[in-house]
Amino acid sequence: MAVVRPKKRSTGVRSSTGRRTSVAKAKARPRPSVAKAKPRARTQHAVGRGRATTAGAARRKGAARSRYVYFFGNGKADGRAEMKNLLGGKGANLAEMAGLGLPVPPGFTITTEVCTHYYANGHQYPPQLRADVAAHLARIEAAVGRRFGDPTNPLLVSVRSGARASMPGMMDTVLNLGLNHQTVQGLIAKSQNARFGWDSYRRFIQMYGDVVLGLKPEGKEQDPFERILEEKKHARGVEADTDLSAEDLRELTHGFKALIRERLGVEFPDDPQEQLWGAIGAVFGSWNNARAITYRKLYNIPEEWGTAVNVQAMVFGNLGNDCATGVAFSRDPATGERVFYGDFLRNAQGEDVVAGIRTPQQLTKRASIAWATAQGISDEERARKYPSLEEAMPRCFAQLEKTARLLERHYRDMQDLEFTIEGGRLWMLQTRNGKRTAAAAVKIAVDMVGERLIDRETAIRRVDPASIDQLLHPGIDPNAEKELLTRGVPASPGAATGEVVFSADEAAEAAAAGRKVILVRVETSPEDIHGMQVAEGILTARGGQASHAAVVARGMGKTCVAGASELDIRYDPGLFHVGQHRVNRGDWITLDGSTGEVFLGRVPMVASRGETGEFKTLMTWADRVRRLKVRCNADTPNDAAVAREFGAEGIGLCRTEHMFFEPERIGAVREMILARDTPGRERALAKLLPIQRGDFLAIFRVMDGLPVNIRLLDPPLHEFLPHGDDEIAALAASMGVDADELRARRDALHEINPMLGLRGCRLGIVYPEIYLMQVRAIMEAACEVAREKVRVIPEIMIPLVGHVHELRTLRAETDALCRDILARTGVKVPYTIGTMIEVPRAALTADEIATEADFFSFGTNDLTQMGFGLSRDDAAKFLPQYVERGILPADPFAVIDQRGIGELMRIGVDKGRRTRPRLKIGICGEHGGEPASVAFCDRIGLDYVSCSPYRVPIARLAAAQAALAQ
Ligand code: ADP
Ligand code: MG
Ligand code: MG
Repeated sequence: MAVVRPKKRSTGVRSSTGRRTSVAKAKARPRPSVAKAKPRARTQHAVGRGRATTAGAARRKGAARSRYVYFFGNGKADGRAEMKNLLGGKGANLAEMAGLGLPVPPGFTITTEVCTHYYANGHQYPPQLRADVAAHLARIEAAVGRRFGDPTNPLLVSVRSGARASMPGMMDTVLNLGLNHQTVQGLIAKSQNARFGWDSYRRFIQMYGDVVLGLKPEGKEQDPFERILEEKKHARGVEADTDLSAEDLRELTHGFKALIRERLGVEFPDDPQEQLWGAIGAVFGSWNNARAITYRKLYNIPEEWGTAVNVQAMVFGNLGNDCATGVAFSRDPATGERVFYGDFLRNAQGEDVVAGIRTPQQLTKRASIAWATAQGISDEERARKYPSLEEAMPRCFAQLEKTARLLERHYRDMQDLEFTIEGGRLWMLQTRNGKRTAAAAVKIAVDMVGERLIDRETAIRRVDPASIDQLLHPGIDPNAEKELLTRGVPASPGAATGEVVFSADEAAEAAAAGRKVILVRVETSPEDIHGMQVAEGILTARGGQASHAAVVARGMGKTCVAGASELDIRYDPGLFHVGQHRVNRGDWITLDGSTGEVFLGRVPMVASRGETGEFKTLMTWADRVRRLKVRCNADTPNDAAVAREFGAEGIGLCRTEHMFFEPERIGAVREMILARDTPGRERALAKLLPIQRGDFLAIFRVMDGLPVNIRLLDPPLHEFLPHGDDEIAALAASMGVDADELRARRDALHEINPMLGLRGCRLGIVYPEIYLMQVRAIMEAACEVAREKVRVIPEIMIPLVGHVHELRTLRAETDALCRDILARTGVKVPYTIGTMIEVPRAALTADEIATEADFFSFGTNDLTQMGFGLSRDDAAKFLPQYVERGILPADPFAVIDQRGIGELMRIGVDKGRRTRPRLKIGICGEHGGEPASVAFCDRIGLDYVSCSPYRVPIARLAAAQAALAQ
């Protein structure tokens, strides 16, 4: 689930943190061809009906043509919610809300097809676009009774981007467009509010300067407009931008314009038409800015989709104290609780509320009281300085809450709303399905089934399998001793501990070095995403539940504490203070994202509560619909027990080599490997046998009634050998041989390319006694537990087979020994013998291999490695670049390459089942817990997937979704 509540620019108070980087890299923004064209005579002015005009234009052209512009407002809309591909998410939902009769400022949407056309035709618009836009602008004018560019009663508009999938924060919106030295006077005269007029104008110049004229800083330096604003506030000795006077703001507009003249050598455009086309071009241009490209890559959004542009009449939240702007959620996006939720700011505009320029206030009184309590603010102070919307504007609050409920019922999903209140009148500016934590997603889905809003299948589909990882992760140990440092808003649940870092780059560096970090910032912005991704948790000093940090963290499933206002952060020396406490870069802190608490040092964690409550309910539903079985990869009884608890239906891969590495065994293993001859090897193996048997006994007991697939020894032997001279000497002494001889034997085992060397079944063929010891351990353990009435179902798996003769040889030996043991003990154990399919040749000759195999298990790690011809251990040198540059869509070791490696699997399944129609087939590579790969395994007819214990629930849910998709 992608997530971002954007914070694009800070229109106010702070500065040092208002940095942004990547956008500026989009530098030379292509200018649309019509941007400089003079507006055509406004002949359509009186028409006020876009449809008629559009139809007329079509008739004039004498042919049916694409419709490029859609109107919404006044209870009517040309578009609908279903038209997201064409109108973008924002435009489609604005149309839907308008169509529902909700108060939406009128506007129009320029379709995504125009964006596509624009990029396909050397940054040219379709010829008829200009006339269409003019006609639809006239409809807005008619609807609001103001005219664009009218010096006495000007219409102002916002120009908003809106892609199909929500790409918030990636595109840039310009507000208050249409202002110039004349129209600002009209605005002031009409509103009788000079402060408002100049506030709107300075905001417009800044946004236009940043977004359209490309003045957003290149690196980490401060936005130049912010700097001027800071200077002004400093000169006036005020903190908040609301404390600046009309005259201050007027001076700011001059300062801003002078800056543009200085930096760009051009005058700020006064002509509203030029402004409009400049902004439209910038939105289309922003589809290919660096931030947007990064975001698309991150969330797999195709480049061809394009963005729509929305042009909408402005409503003003900055007209005075009976005005406000805010965001609301129809349910709590952190917990999923069914409570109305959100923040607002009085006398503010646009994104002030998420930009952290002032402390946002809560919508409901309940939340407001909870917030004040957490911040240690008295109720008297709260009610005076930070009242809830419920208290401050009860009528608007009631209408907003009702609207949220209505929209939630309408969309049958939790809604994230943007609203503005102008002069006590509520306006809806956006609605979309809200981003949420995994816990909230599960709760909301299950609750909505109970409320009969959705059915169970929809509920199953609503939860992103990858996200439930969050529910399985640890929290803070309630009994641990801890030192509370400060508190903030509990923005994204879970717990995290790590070293403090102060920038995204630092975080990325430290994480690459394997260190755990907490990213601490005054607030975050889209440029910080790469740091947030690798951090354990995020801590900010400003912003609330709807801040960028909070929303992004929730989407990523990261712990986040936001708005911990006691933090006094100094980026420069790299430290922060809380009172007298000082925390330096590199110091450890711990966050509890569920309570908002921040602790000093490393606080111990406890395991998650596991499958309880709504999560359990959802998983029960999922288990009922899925066809694929889900097993786990587990090498120890402990892993097996965890996996069973997570719902594993067997072990799909038990690797025996990990058992060999245990300190008390490695000596015997090394003796076995370095033995001079077979008798020597057998002596060492005799030491290992009881130990191996013990491993299997414990695992079989835990997995009572479920199959356990055990892979015989796979890695090249040299992996077990001592390297240092000390180790060799010690081993030589214990074996009673000469150290030099031992060293020589070790060197003889050296391989140029061990992954393609003496490993897997090749070992079993060259040293049969190794595999036979393992088989004996398995079967003797099986017989022993079978006598205890444990239902044991061993599956013996022979790795790295490429030719049927390999399997035939080893199967014969294995089978003979199994029979022998069963005959001697007189116990019945339903054992099977099969193979991994991980060498491409095995997949291609699966019909032959199947003659000797009771089952297949796709080892997709090796299959990917060998199928692609890329070494996983060396791929880090180039694979990230491949993915970044789109040469590969994803890391093929994480997500199955369906086209290539998947094709090998498909062939393996088809050929294998041609020989043995009921051949049991699974997958045990790491892909078995990755949702897209699970879906693929379902489609090609595997019987089960197997993955690490913590991913078992993910695979179960993914398997259910795959079954529903079939
Ligand atoms: P984003 O996609 O980044 O959320 P939006 O287009 O939603 O960008 O706009 C940014 C901010 O400006 C939002 O807070 C939005 O509510 C506000 N806004 C957009 N259009 C208008 C308008 N016509 N009148 C008042 N506020 C607006
Ligand atoms: Mg928005
Ligand atoms: Mg393998």
